[in-house]
Amino acid sequence: MSLIRVALDVPVARLFDYRCDDRTAQIGARVLVPFGRQKLIGIIVARPDTSEVAETKLKRAISVLDAEPLLGRADLRLLEFAADYYVHPLGAVIMATLPAALRRVRSREETPAAYALTATGTALDVTTLSPRARAQRDLLALLQSRPVIDHSDISALGAATRKALLAFIAQGWVQTCARPQEAPMTLPAPSTGPTLTADQSAAAKAIAAALGSYQPILLWGITSSGKTEVYLHAIAVALSRGSQVLLLVPEIALTPQLESLVIARFPGIPVATLHSSLADGERNTRWQAARNGRVRIVLGTRLSVFTPLPDLGLIIVDEEHDTSFKQGEGFRYSARDLAVVRARHTGVPVVLGSATPALETWRNAVDHRYQLLNLPERINARPPVISCVDLRHEKTTDGLSARLITAIGKRIDRGEQSMVFINRRGYAPVLMCGSCGWMSDCKRCSAKLVVHLRDRRLRCHHCGHDGAVPSACPECGDADLSPVGQGTQRIEAALAKQFPKARILRVDRDTTRRKDAWQAMRSRIRERTVDILVGTQILAKGHDFPHLNLVGVVNADGMLYSNDFRAAERLYALLTQVAGRAGRGDQQGEVLIQTEFAEHPLYAALRDQDFDAYARSLLAERQQAGFPPYVHQVLLRAEARTVGVALQFLEQAALSARHLKPAVTVYDPVPANMMRKSGRERAHLLVQSSSRADLRTFLNAWRPYLAETASTAARWSLEVDPAEF
Ligand code: ADP
Ligand code: ZN
Ligand code: ZN
Repeated sequence: MSLIRVALDVPVARLFDYRCDDRTAQIGARVLVPFGRQKLIGIIVARPDTSEVAETKLKRAISVLDAEPLLGRADLRLLEFAADYYVHPLGAVIMATLPAALRRVRSREETPAAYALTATGTALDVTTLSPRARAQRDLLALLQSRPVIDHSDISALGAATRKALLAFIAQGWVQTCARPQEAPMTLPAPSTGPTLTADQSAAAKAIAAALGSYQPILLWGITSSGKTEVYLHAIAVALSRGSQVLLLVPEIALTPQLESLVIARFPGIPVATLHSSLADGERNTRWQAARNGRVRIVLGTRLSVFTPLPDLGLIIVDEEHDTSFKQGEGFRYSARDLAVVRARHTGVPVVLGSATPALETWRNAVDHRYQLLNLPERINARPPVISCVDLRHEKTTDGLSARLITAIGKRIDRGEQSMVFINRRGYAPVLMCGSCGWMSDCKRCSAKLVVHLRDRRLRCHHCGHDGAVPSACPECGDADLSPVGQGTQRIEAALAKQFPKARILRVDRDTTRRKDAWQAMRSRIRERTVDILVGTQILAKGHDFPHLNLVGVVNADGMLYSNDFRAAERLYALLTQVAGRAGRGDQQGEVLIQTEFAEHPLYAALRDQDFDAYARSLLAERQQAGFPPYVHQVLLRAEARTVGVALQFLEQAALSARHLKPAVTVYDPVPANMMRKSGRERAHLLVQSSSRADLRTFLNAWRPYLAETASTAARWSLEVDPAEF
């Protein structure tokens, strides 16, 4: 009897054995199995000789769904690592990373690698087909244009084409055949890229020299130092050696220019972009094309770190400090960290690029575990001059200081662009009653409802609550209600009042919701039909606006004092990005930060633009206080109808933890920073240790207790290396 061991997407951290008479069943293939009263799709992860379950009790697998393994050994190894490291069931991990189309139950479907015309098919004249049989005619033309057509090319053309293909096969016009060998790759023409600077060239050479073996590299380059060109040159070398390249970016929607740049730079090289807003079928097609080696460059967001790439030769993580590489729900993982693990498993270099690397990464570079490459100079520009507007001495009108207003006015006169950055959308962060002090709290979250004046709505940015702005105070009935504080809409209105003739463009989640909206706005900015930009961090990402020379920062102080120990690191990175938008060519960029804490070390460091010094001081603080990266953390999160229930579960969990006499520190349960969210109340319990091994040992011992202690009243999850509390 043959046995298979299957990973299933069920919330228990174990694998399941089945009998399987299909001798062709391979590790890495999908299989349909009975599970309770359901039928589930799982992945075969082993073919054991024996099972712990008695033979008579083993159920029989229904059918093997893939003739060839869907996941190779290397892919499974990464997934197994992730499941183990992040303490998440392997089946759930695998299923979270597969395209949805592959997670659905369908009958066994042979997916031959490629198709070619038979002799009869080749002799066919397209005019013998009915002119109305459009799909058939197109398909025949396609098949006649090339000796072999890949399966993914055909499935990309849609259902009518697939039907036509089946008809052709039935007619004996088309036969399936092996996938064609990739044509030998020639070095992409050096194309239209600029000549590299000496620093860029040295960095690109160092990366090229590392190809072929594991080497983590930090490419630390200030904003506008030309990191992208370095990636492109390293990619060109990797491609010329026959490798596939994985390029991870925080958000594709915000950086569409990178996609077009990559495509334009490597004409003829198949590129696939992978992100969460792809339709299921399209995602599957691209994933398959990456997996079968046809696509040579994958440009993707965090989930694409798992994309099977048989010829992977280089991994690049752009803006590696960005928090969107962290998955914060369900299977919580860091794509940046897994990229490094994958590079190690595969024996290839991984390049982490940033102007403000994460402190975890920086420490690895300082300690020489990562190779450090530096681009210290801007391309064709001096660094911007950054200064603070001290709000203790300068008054503001509608949130704008006189100095900022004057500076914007000057830029308008010179025909230059300015940007006002405020990290809060809406009109005002809260509505308040002047007579009784009532504030617009969200009933379902520990948060205020934000005033959206234009639509006259009060909205919660956490749970989505959306209600009308009341005409009178719900508490005392007084009509004296006023918005307090600033949001993008209010700053936009204030600027319009100051500069009635200026063309103002607001860029935040509300104005960029429509597909392609942001792309259209970017063209407007580049075409100089905008004088002042107002917006949130969407504006901070690596955009290149050649006529933007002034950046004003409003309300950053709010982010200065937070009980998250990473707040300073994040704010520094964000403001560096924002400041990096100012100044191009011979124009001196200017950055004005409005603050009531002008002496704060963070602002001082920002003015000096000395990331190295600031990062070292933050690291020294972390070391002293016993924070990551000097300790490793795991968070046990719980949520329930009331925080009391969540805390009760955590108390039990803490008790069982201490009972294990662990070599790790177990803290007391506390309510989460944002205790209430969407009607649920949240708390957590932190466990940490300076030894990963100790933490690991402890987690393995603790996990069974958690499963036991768990009640239906409280939902819990473990998060390894938590990024938010
Ligand atoms: P970063 O990602 O480091 O902030 P970019 O890669 O966006 O910087 O480069 C900034 C700008 O400089 C881009 O417009 C890019 O096209 C241009 N650039 C990069 N390298 C060169 C070069 N060697 N010569 C001229 N322009 C360059
Ligand atoms: Zn009131
Ligand atoms: Zn809410």
